[in-house]
Amino acid sequence: MGTPLEPRSEQVTEVLDRLYEEYPDSTISLNYSTRLELLIAVILSAQCTDERVNSVCAELFETYQTPEEYANAPQEELAEAINSITYYNNKAKYIRSACADIAEEHDGEVPDTMSELTDLAGVGRKTANVVLQHGHNVVEGIVVDTHVQRITRRLGITEEERPERIESDLVDIVPEDDWQQFTHLMIDHGRATCTAINPDCTDCVLADVCPSAKPDADIDLASGDPW
Ligand code: SF4
Repeated sequence: MGTPLEPRSEQVTEVLDRLYEEYPDSTISLNYSTRLELLIAVILSAQCTDERVNSVCAELFETYQTPEEYANAPQEELAEAINSITYYNNKAKYIRSACADIAEEHDGEVPDTMSELTDLAGVGRKTANVVLQHGHNVVEGIVVDTHVQRITRRLGITEEERPERIESDLVDIVPEDDWQQFTHLMIDHGRATCTAINPDCTDCVLADVCPSAKPDADIDLASGDPW
């Protein structure tokens, strides 16, 4: 079991230093070339792998280009086009509705504020944060996805459980300049080493500062359950 640094801001600094070193090219892994494509890819990525989303979007973005084209696409047609994505029926509805709003209320442009974005169908704070950061260069918060949620708890950086609570905890202790990269570094580490099931603690650069590190720790602090 590793020993986390005190206070938590020190732990964050140490974790960031090591992960920047480990993943120097860390960035978003969804493919897109416009803000609308980014928004659609992020809506599709909820509980689905970025790899799958990229593969579906390669064709989807050829077929539909404007908000009007998505909004006017028949529900069955759009659902069929994304049917290898989780919850494709609901996601097709969200995309058609969000695109109708973008066309009618935002002159066809993806909005650039948190409140306007979260008013769109299928867009929660996490999706809005990604679109603001990568589509508009506006960093208003920290994107808390499943990797950020799991690893910040394992590392003793937060004890909160819900993404919104974790985000408000993190913005107080993660330097603002690192808000965007914090998420990408956690995602890279979550994919490479600190996986949900059976993380590779013996080969982890954070093991000596991680209170969940196996084999010494008995408990996975992410779930509170024994390893
Ligand atoms: S892989 Fe293990 S040691 Fe590394 S951060 Fe995850 S739980 Fe901690």
